[in-house]
Order: sequence, then C-alpha cells, then structure tokens
Amino acid sequence: MRRPVVAGNWKMHGSKAWLEAWVADWQKRIDARAELIVLPPAPYLATVRALLGDRRVRVGAQNVHAEANGAFTGEVAAEMVKDAGADCTLVGHSERRQRCGESDDVVAAKFVAARRAGLTPILCVGESLDERKRGAAADVVLRQLDAVIARAGIAAFDDALIAYEPVWAIGTGVVATPDDAEEMHACIRVRLAEHARDVAAAMRILYGGSVKAGNAAGLFAKPNVDGGLVGGASLDAGEFALICNAA
Ligand code: PEP
Repeated sequence: MRRPVVAGNWKMHGSKAWLEAWVADWQKRIDARAELIVLPPAPYLATVRALLGDRRVRVGAQNVHAEANGAFTGEVAAEMVKDAGADCTLVGHSERRQRCGESDDVVAAKFVAARRAGLTPILCVGESLDERKRGAAADVVLRQLDAVIARAGIAAFDDALIAYEPVWAIGTGVVATPDDAEEMHACIRVRLAEHARDVAAAMRILYGGSVKAGNAAGLFAKPNVDGGLVGGASLDAGEFALICNAA
C-alpha cells in the first residue's frame, strides 16, 4: 500500500498576511490520511514551517539551484532551503523547463542537489500539447525520467516523488482523464521497474494539472495515481482541503 500524497504549489502567489490566514483556515478543515505538502515561495518557507507547527505536514521549495554556493546572484541552494525548514523541493516543473530554459540535464543536476542537501525531490515530468498530438507523450516523459536516472542513479529515487504534469493541463482548466493519467503513471512505473522493482513498487506518482475538488476523487481512484500536485486550486484553503481529504 502506498500512502497518497497531496502537494500544494502556490507558485509566485501570497504574502505574509495571506499565508497566515490560509494556514489557519486550511488546518481547521483537513481530515486527511494522506501525506500533505505545502510549497510556498522561498522567502516564506520558514514562516510556513513555523505556522504549521505540525511536523506531519511537509514544507517544500518550488526550485533550487544545482550548486551548493557560489556566484549565482538571485539563486537559492538546496542546502539553504533545507536550512530554512524545507523537507522537499520540486525539480523540473514545466514552468521552469519552458520559461527558464531548464534542460533535462539541469533538472537532473537539481535532483542530485536536492539529495545532497537531504531534501526529498519531487520530479515533475510532462509533455506539451503538441507532443501529445504527435503521439510522443510517453517518449517525452520517459526521456525526462531517463535523464535523471542516468545522472542520479536509481537508488536516488528511493523515497523520492514523481509528478506527472501534462503541460497542456497546467493552469488551463483542462484536466487529463483518469484513464489518460493512469496510462502514463503505469508507463512511468514500468520504466522504474526496469531499473529496480522495489523502487518502482514504492514510488508515489502524483498527477498534476487542473486538479480541483470536483475531479480529484476520480483521479485518485486510479491504482497508479498516488495523489496530486495542485497549483491554482491550492490557493483556496477550503478547496485544497477538500482535495487533501479526497486522497
Ligand atoms: C502546477 O503548477 O504544478 C499545477 C498543477 O497547476 P494547476 O493545478 O493550476 O494546473
């Protein structure tokens, strides 16, 4: 049995006053057996960690730099977010791949950096609409996964998380069908199993892309969908609590 996970990615939203109200509201409403993760913007990591108090809720970053320190103005090292109270970090979110030009190699280096710093990496993979239309969705997702396995090694995936996030579903209101999500999640698990069957069997693979309270239960009911990575809907504490409780 894999314990489901629900993570809320606030992206570049929020303020100190807003997150104080969010945490108070959300904590009143959650009744989840799932593992829960909140991913605030980096400057708020320590504040959110302190406000949540409850160590059962994990706090994570949305991105880290691959290097531990150096002349990288404006960047934040994995060790720094760990020091600020983070337990985990996203790597390879499609907004970073597309808008910040992060290649598969850069993503793989960030995955290694997260491990080096003692953070749980949440590796995001997913195809664009064009790639899906061309029938290349699985090839793209497996290429993204293979790049990280090649650099980090399969052992580094022990207790990591993977989020399948089709780019066409992120922030668009267009959600993958439960069957489409299941198909890709199964495909990811098969690829992991080619390297290590125990890692594959234990891997929690989250679905991300326009998850809402109204569609979460249908997605989470699929055998290879082990929870969700939630963007827009996580900004609403009530809606996010419903999604957490659905897992
Ligand atoms: C995300 O940013 O990871 C995401 C899944 O966004 P949304 O839920 O808004 O589609």
